[in-house]
Amino acid sequence: MQRILFGEQLGPVFDDGDEPVLLVESLAAFRARPTHRQKAHLYLSALRHRAQELGDRVELVRAPTFREALRGRDLVAVDPPSFAARRLVRELGATILPSRGFVTSEEDFASWVRGRDERGLVMDTFYRWVRQREGILMTKAGKPVGGRFSYDADNRQPPPKRERLELPEPWWPREDDIDRQVRDDLDRWEQDGTVRFIGADGPRRFAVTHREGRRALQHFVRHRLPSFGPVEDATLAADWTMAHSLLSVPMNLGVLDPREVVDAALAAYADGAAPLNSVEGFVRQIVGWRDWMWHLHWHLGERYVHRNALQARRRVPDAIWELDAAAIEANCLSSVVAGVHEHGWAHHIQRLMVLGNFALEHGWSPAETTAWFTGAFVDGTSWVMPTNVVGMSLHADGGVVATKPYASGGAYIDRMTDYCGGCRFDPKVRVGEDACPFTAGYWAFLHRHRERFAGNPRMAQPLAGLGRLKDLDAVLEQEAHRTLW
Ligand code: FAD
Ligand code: SF4
Repeated sequence: MQRILFGEQLGPVFDDGDEPVLLVESLAAFRARPTHRQKAHLYLSALRHRAQELGDRVELVRAPTFREALRGRDLVAVDPPSFAARRLVRELGATILPSRGFVTSEEDFASWVRGRDERGLVMDTFYRWVRQREGILMTKAGKPVGGRFSYDADNRQPPPKRERLELPEPWWPREDDIDRQVRDDLDRWEQDGTVRFIGADGPRRFAVTHREGRRALQHFVRHRLPSFGPVEDATLAADWTMAHSLLSVPMNLGVLDPREVVDAALAAYADGAAPLNSVEGFVRQIVGWRDWMWHLHWHLGERYVHRNALQARRRVPDAIWELDAAAIEANCLSSVVAGVHEHGWAHHIQRLMVLGNFALEHGWSPAETTAWFTGAFVDGTSWVMPTNVVGMSLHADGGVVATKPYASGGAYIDRMTDYCGGCRFDPKVRVGEDACPFTAGYWAFLHRHRERFAGNPRMAQPLAGLGRLKDLDAVLEQEAHRTLW
């Protein structure tokens, strides 16, 4: 019997050391949709590094598809992270172990969710339950440390009035012979037309082994975690990483266990090396959001990605598919797309309040937007994207993941970023040549869905604002024909 390790199961936690290991290198996923070159590099580098670590225990098979590589073998698998792979291992009669790589198990979630309908699926309730159950940041008396479960209110500061946060550089990996071989292979495949990538090649920026993941984690906890909370939602154009951890890649590759990440943050708090608002804010990203999105993915099912409650049918524009920042006039959008071109990564607020917000207001198809995000982002996996894009960003599930759409005009972007100063548009202007596509797009979006949102108490204030707009007709006429953004 062989232990098959999928491409998101490449760390020690997925291997019990009992069986010989099978690793499969297949280019099928990179051909399914336009994929960022650095994402392909990270996957191949992680896989080949794992093969090197496992030495004689491993058989590394190169095959067009997983199906071809797995057929006819006697296999044991940790339940894999995609619907397609789960079907495949069952069809092939593999022995299946419960999934791993999250703080809570699928069984834990099943016990939490029993008896709740879609309206009862609230991340905050789940997060508090996990905190209590695992004793994370809890006192002996069973109360949250510091008296509150959430320090969100302290963590929404605008960026400082300077170009960069001025934190030490994040930890960067040192490329080795495996990376050089991966780069040569990618060059060759691009040249002979085997695959076509988007985005720039670059030095590898993310950890791909357990050892690298631990180094990146230690460096983050020491140098960035103390600042993480206050500027969690802020953006400075010249500071692409801000105080973020850059740990989604090693966690999603399975090389860094999220429990280890949480434990390191808690230890920093216990030692007085990081304040509570930063530690709680960071722990919530992992124990709350990351686990939550994983469980919702299975709970909401494979058809979820096709939900389209707002009937959004516009194609994702070519400039976005091709990561062509020069073709985009809006400074915020152009800068974020340039960052994705360069790194295959953007931080959460850039994803949600710039890319996602624009896609929401301009009615991009949820399934196509999900496909774009999945290919363009180095940490994009099939389990993480649907709920983040269809649910959180595009409100296409009708309010399951987020009770109100994350739509906002240019005023929010102006407050939380430094993009607007260098933009040809003006965030305060709704009509005319300078009209900000986010501000005008916001009102057009609200108007388009005013009847649906009328029943949502959280939308009462924005709809009242819509009712007071004197130039609404001009805004709607302009946005119906907008080509400049
Ligand atoms: P940090 O800001 O340092 O946060 C720490 C960790 O929290 C992340 O590494 C991640 O594991 C976890 N986390 C926080 N929020 C989420 C969330 N909403 N869903 C899942 N995990 C979360 N995350 C991905 O892992 N892969 C994606 O492809 C991805 N795409 C996204 C697309 C959109 C439209 C949005 C709104 C969010 C997306 N996220 C995704 C969530 C989040 O933006 C990224 O996890 C984060 O920006 C990664 O950078 P970081 O590791 O520096 O995160
Ligand atoms: Fe973005 Fe509008 Fe600000 Fe320009 S003015 S950077 S388009 S929010």
